[in-house]
Amino acid sequence: MTKIEKLGVDIGGVIIENHDNSADTSFFSKNYLSTPASENSFAELKKLNEGRFEDKVYLVSKCGPSVQSKTKKWLKHNRFFELTGISEDKVHFCLERNEKAEISLQLGLTAFVDDRLEILGYLKHMKDLFLFKPNEEEVAENKEHLPLVTVVNSWTELGTLLNE
Ligand SMILES: [Mg+2]
Repeated sequence: MTKIEKLGVDIGGVIIENHDNSADTSFFSKNYLSTPASENSFAELKKLNEGRFEDKVYLVSKCGPSVQSKTKKWLKHNRFFELTGISEDKVHFCLERNEKAEISLQLGLTAFVDDRLEILGYLKHMKDLFLFKPNEEEVAENKEHLPLVTVVNSWTELGTLLNE
């Protein structure tokens, strides 16, 4: 029997672009619905969801209640569900970074993409960990986890690796 593969994807900094907080379209401004999606993220997620991961792509995001509500609105406003084919019930939120581990275990995720190395450090039980467009300082603070992960700098690069 082939093993079922399930992909977990962070939202902030991976699907929704991390913007300078002072920018007009920062996710922390009133224009948050206009914060851009990471380039090619929707197209690559659609391919992964239809292809290798067979409708088992999940979004797992750590944020408080107000950002949760903004994130849901952003996903709808930007037609995320229609454009990727990923259903709304695949979106999971937690309040603490380390809770991503519990959610991942419950869902049986086998691969994860995050822009924070600290978080991937909690997900050591998975063999496929991808660090997306990392922040140098955050990497320096959590460098002991670096050998566990593959660093990627674009969705095109990630799509190529995951579709191999
Ligand atoms: Mg993030």
